[in-house]
Amino acid sequence: MRRRTVIQSLAAGVVAARAARAAARASSDRFDVAVIGAGVFGAWTAHYLHEAGARVLLLDAYGAANSRASSGGESRITRCSYGKDDWYTGWSWKSLPRWRALEARSGATLFAPTGVLAFGVPDSGFIEASEGALQAHGIPHQRLDNAELRRRFAQVNFGEREQGLFEPAAGVLFARRAVQTLVAELQKRGVDYRRAKVSVPRGERTAPLVETAAGERLSATQYIYACGPWLPKLFPDLLAPQFRADRAEVYFLGVPPGDTRFAPPAMPTWMDMNSQWDAWGMPELENRGFKLAIDRLIVPADPDTMDRRATPEFFADVHAYVAQRFPALADAPVVETRVCQYEMAPDEQYLLDRHPHFEGVWWLGGGSGHGFKNGPAVGEYAAGAVLHGKPVDPRFTRLRSHP
Ligand SMILES: Cc1cc2nc3c(=O)[nH]c(=O)nc-3n(C[C@H](O)[C@H](O)[C@H](O)COP(=O)(O)OP(=O)(O)OC[C@H]3O[C@@H](n4cnc5c(N)ncnc54)[C@H](O)[C@@H]3O)c2cc1C
Repeated sequence: MRRRTVIQSLAAGVVAARAARAAARASSDRFDVAVIGAGVFGAWTAHYLHEAGARVLLLDAYGAANSRASSGGESRITRCSYGKDDWYTGWSWKSLPRWRALEARSGATLFAPTGVLAFGVPDSGFIEASEGALQAHGIPHQRLDNAELRRRFAQVNFGEREQGLFEPAAGVLFARRAVQTLVAELQKRGVDYRRAKVSVPRGERTAPLVETAAGERLSATQYIYACGPWLPKLFPDLLAPQFRADRAEVYFLGVPPGDTRFAPPAMPTWMDMNSQWDAWGMPELENRGFKLAIDRLIVPADPDTMDRRATPEFFADVHAYVAQRFPALADAPVVETRVCQYEMAPDEQYLLDRHPHFEGVWWLGGGSGHGFKNGPAVGEYAAGAVLHGKPVDPRFTRLRSHP
């Protein structure tokens, strides 16, 4: 009899302890903000939310800066030349020291100070407008006339009317490494990071609930879908009419043995602003080859299922461009390729907006081929809007849904 009572009270104790553990888990699994997508936008937003004292859950279906993500490439340009729209000039200039600070904290190499050269014929107005913006923001720059361009960069075949604008402080961010470094730092600081695919809210004003593959159910007061090129796929009715994912092919060419003309410091990162090309590239970094892309292959991309092998037909264009612009590389072999996708908005402005039907649900994305560098400024801005209700500039609220 006595023995039975002991067993009963033990069992009751176990049940009570289990209930207490479950209650504690349920309350501890309630976050202030869940950030869905650990690309550059999501990771920096999680950083600033955490700095502001929020309990943050960061989730990614495939892992931080994965091979499918737009942030998953090796390298991205950081520059402040943006033509006449100087909003992003300011954000780039503000972001670079934050990248450098992350680099200093982590000890990893996250930035290559290659300088960035924009060149083109004067017709587009890009160089003049950028120069004005750089001047206004106090950003170091050098205007190069045709003779100076040819003198400094003899390995490039410039046209007779081409001019240049050089930003000596600009360069290249090692994208995947930088985002993964940031996410590792966030985890150490207490941000809860998980690999999980998050569904979208459905029905009437139902907040999404995160359910991990392990069956955990997590919830938050606010949700930020920082899903880059996945956004139109996740929210087809509202976002697909305005945003699209476009395939982008990137080539790395093997430079001739012993040739240092295509590596820093001889070769800067460059952007060909002549409208017939829309080409850009980087000097050889980490011995991977001379990287370049031509942005005129507008083919829709599915970031989950797209075949990421480069297309030989498209390389014909790249080859023609290289032969004309960098004659010494005309016969250079392709040593690596990457296929990624841009998450394009028609006006190339980013997206930060509330979902019109679900309270506490936000969208963040629309990097439009130029978002990486601005990750720190974007993250700070998004955290301010979501956590403190700071106003969002209309350029980012495509659906005009916020008050
Ligand atoms: C070829 C190429 C060159 C570029 N060059 C430059 C450049 O030189 N300079 C520059 O500044 N920018 C550049 N960009 C743009 C820049 O890379 C992007 O704007 C930026 O990386 C976008 O980041 P993101 O965080 O919005 O999206 P992503 O990095 O794509 O992150 C979105 C994340 O969301 C996750 N996700 C999606 N759906 C779900 C779900 N349901 N549940 C959980 N997770 C989910 C994905 O796994 C992914 O990791 C370039 C882009 C490309 C493709």
